[in-house]
Amino acid sequence: MTPEKFMARAIEIGRAGLRTKDARPFAAVVVKHGKIVGEGRSQQKTLLDPTAHGEIVAIREACGRLGTADLSGCELYTTCEPCPLCVSAIWWAKISKMYYAHTQEDCERIGFSTKALVDEVRRPRASRKLPSERICVGEAEMLFQEWAAEGMRIHGAAAQSPSSGYPHR
Ligand SMILES: [Zn+2]
Repeated sequence: MTPEKFMARAIEIGRAGLRTKDARPFAAVVVKHGKIVGEGRSQQKTLLDPTAHGEIVAIREACGRLGTADLSGCELYTTCEPCPLCVSAIWWAKISKMYYAHTQEDCERIGFSTKALVDEVRRPRASRKLPSERICVGEAEMLFQEWAAEGMRIHGAAAQSPSSGYPHR
C-alpha cells in the first residue's frame, strides 16, 4: 500500500464518523510494516472522553494490538495536522513518521481552531490561563525517592532514565 492509500483509509474512517454522534471529520490510522494496526476517529462524545481524538484512539488500538506502548517503527496517518494533545501522544508513542492531509489552518477554516491551546502551551507556566499552584513538594519528593530505591531496582536505572527524553510511564 502507498502512503496515499493509508491516508485514503483514514479519510474513509473520518467520513464514516460524520454519520455518528461525534460527527467530526478527523481520523487516523497507525501502520507498521505496511499493515494497519490501529484505526481511530474523533469519539469524544461517544466515549465521553475529551482525549479521544482520532490520533489517540488509533494509537491506543495499535498499542493494544501490538501489546506495547512503544510504537517505534510505526507511521501515523491523520486527516489533519495534530493538535498539541495528539502531538504529545505521537511523541510518547515514539511514532517514527507522520503523514497529514489538512493543516491546522484548514481546521480553523471549518471552525476547529487549536490556536488558543497552542498559545497556552507556549506561554510560561505562570502566564497560562489555567490557574495552577505548587503544593506537597516534600511528599512528592518522597515518591521520587521511593522510586529511586524501588522502581530503579525493579526496572533498571539506565534503560528508564528520564533524561533520555522518553521516560517510562
Ligand atoms: Zn488532537
